[in-house]
Amino acid sequence: MTKNDKRQTKVKLAVYGKGGIGKSTTSCNISVALAKRGKKVLQIGCDPKHDSTFTLTGFLIPTIIDTLQEKDYHYEDVWPEDVIYKGYGGVDCVEAGGPPAGAGCGGYVVGETVKLLKELNAFDEYDVILFDVLGDVVCGGFAAPLNYADYCLIVTDNGFDALFAANRIAASVREKARTHPLRLAGLIGNRTSKRDLIEKYVEAVPMPVLEVLPLIEDIRVSRVKGKTLFEMAEYDPSLNYVCDYYLNIADQILARPEGVVPNDAPDRELFSLLSDF
Ligand code: ADP
Ligand code: MG
Repeated sequence: MTKNDKRQTKVKLAVYGKGGIGKSTTSCNISVALAKRGKKVLQIGCDPKHDSTFTLTGFLIPTIIDTLQEKDYHYEDVWPEDVIYKGYGGVDCVEAGGPPAGAGCGGYVVGETVKLLKELNAFDEYDVILFDVLGDVVCGGFAAPLNYADYCLIVTDNGFDALFAANRIAASVREKARTHPLRLAGLIGNRTSKRDLIEKYVEAVPMPVLEVLPLIEDIRVSRVKGKTLFEMAEYDPSLNYVCDYYLNIADQILARPEGVVPNDAPDRELFSLLSDF
């Protein structure tokens, strides 16, 4: 493989979705799935909750904001090993962190994180960089990862609130796609065995559905254990079927899907589409 080929295999992903929908869980397992396929992966938690990489490392790693505070915001004193931690499967992990609760701007922190990692030349080392971002507030700062991403992935369940959030994220992707080579790879259904509302939504706003994961008790437990499903499956091979969902998503991403530039639905249309009245 030549150097140029290697550069072409690079892919940057931004995972969005309503709070608590399963973005971090899904992100960590996709990251491991990509690592299993031989890729060098960096996962960047961009949620002020700073628990994105918890199931990869088994603990809450120090955030970029903590580290910068410790170094009096002297960026030049920050080394990659201060902020990049090794997680399961060889996945590297970063947490942006957040400002003190009720003060400052979380989106600003995301911007600073990207800036710092670029200064550390950390961006060039990886085949895949995955940003795990919250999706309720798509302000300029939280939308920043879309400036760097090739693909946006949206995690949703089969309910109104998550699909409503998904539609707002789709609108952000459409806006960013005007000036960036960004595509929406599609939706990942999570924690649902039903998909009727998801189907209704993608009929109105066409986009691929990459996978739909049901509610699986072992996924809930993985959060408590601080392990990905891949690590749990090492001891319990009956969980391999869960890993297959994530491997399937990883393989679709590595196949460089065409994706879409979505046309989000107007809010009022979405209300009537997804409601019974
Ligand atoms: P987010 O990052 O979107 O805020 P998390 O990934 O932290 O959400 O997930 C919230 C909770 O839901 C966690 O306890 C996680 O274990 C659980 N969870 C996520 N996906 C599933 C699933 N498919 N089945 C069961 N529990 C899940
Ligand atoms: Mg999260």
